[in-house]
Parts: sequence; C-alpha cells; structure tokens
Amino acid sequence: MEIIESFLSKNPCYKKGQKIKVKGLMLHSVGCNQPSAMKFVDSWNNPAHNQSCVHAFIDGNTGDVYQTLPWEYRGWHCGKGSTGKSANDTHIGVEMCEPACIHYTGGSTFTCTDEAAAREVVTRTYDSAVILFAALCKVFGLNPLEDGVIISHREGHMRNIASDHQDPEHLWNQLHTGYTMDGFRRAVSEAMK
Ligand SMILES: [Zn+2]
Repeated sequence: MEIIESFLSKNPCYKKGQKIKVKGLMLHSVGCNQPSAMKFVDSWNNPAHNQSCVHAFIDGNTGDVYQTLPWEYRGWHCGKGSTGKSANDTHIGVEMCEPACIHYTGGSTFTCTDEAAAREVVTRTYDSAVILFAALCKVFGLNPLEDGVIISHREGHMRNIASDHQDPEHLWNQLHTGYTMDGFRRAVSEAMK
C-alpha cells in the first residue's frame, strides 16, 4: 500500500483551509460502482465541486491511498446530524472505492454480477484502510477501541453527527464479507502493535 499525495487544491474545501483538532477517523465507501480513486480525484479537483471533500480515497484495484486533503484540514465528508453537530469538525474522512461489478438499484441497495470479484475489491480496500487507520491513530495519538474514535458514516448518523448514509456496512453486508465496524476497530488495534 502506497500513500500518493493528490491534494484537491482546486476544491473549495481545500481552498478554505480550515483546520480541526483530529479526535477520530470516519470510514466511508463511495456509494457508486467506481473502483478507481483517480476518477474521484479528477472530478473532485474542481472549483465547481463545492459540496464535498474528503481526506483520502482508497483505490479498489491497487489498495493504494490517494491523500486528497492534509489530514488536519476540516473535510466535508459526512454532512451533519439532526442536532446540527458534525463529525467534519472532529474526524478525518476516508472513502473506500467500490467494485465495478455492483449496480445500485436505489439508496444503498445493489445487485452484483460477480460476488467473488466484488469481495476481492472490498477485501483490498478494507485491508488498506486497516493499515492507514493504524498509522493515523499513531500520528494523532488515538485509541482505536475508544468509543467514538473510529466510526463509520452509518455509525456517525446513529450518533447524530452525520447525514443519513449506510456506508460502508451496506457494502460489506450485501456482499457477505463478514466485516463489521467492531472487527475493523479490533484489526486497527492489532495493526498498531
Ligand atoms: Zn459516507
């Protein structure tokens, strides 16, 4: 796994350059069937892309990490909860790209033409996310097992600090990967040893 610096310097979020004190990490998946991180980098590095910006994309074909914001910048990755609170103020946001062979049929529901191929992509991004999150926990002095430190977008919504999305558990569950956020947090903790 390589970390490739690909800052979205034309994105209004990057230009704003607001900083946060990093208190946690939020795991996302992109919600469309695009495994290429560079496709997102290219389309989001645009002054007109003014609604969203994340800290990194994990490529589904290689597992490489494309870092798109400096880690301590405030991202626009999770919207906000009904109380107006947002994990954008506290959490780094990382997107895992998704397999090309899935097809969304509405919301977070999809069909899949090749489940084995899809699981290969998902395993690759999961494994890279574990390594990346372990490294970031070390950099920012975070305990991955502490409540609220590592959360998914879905969990952020349940905690009222993110918009109503189901990622990335919707992807893991429908592809029968057996991955869970609790398992992910334990894997990050193991990887830090
Ligand atoms: Zn998300």
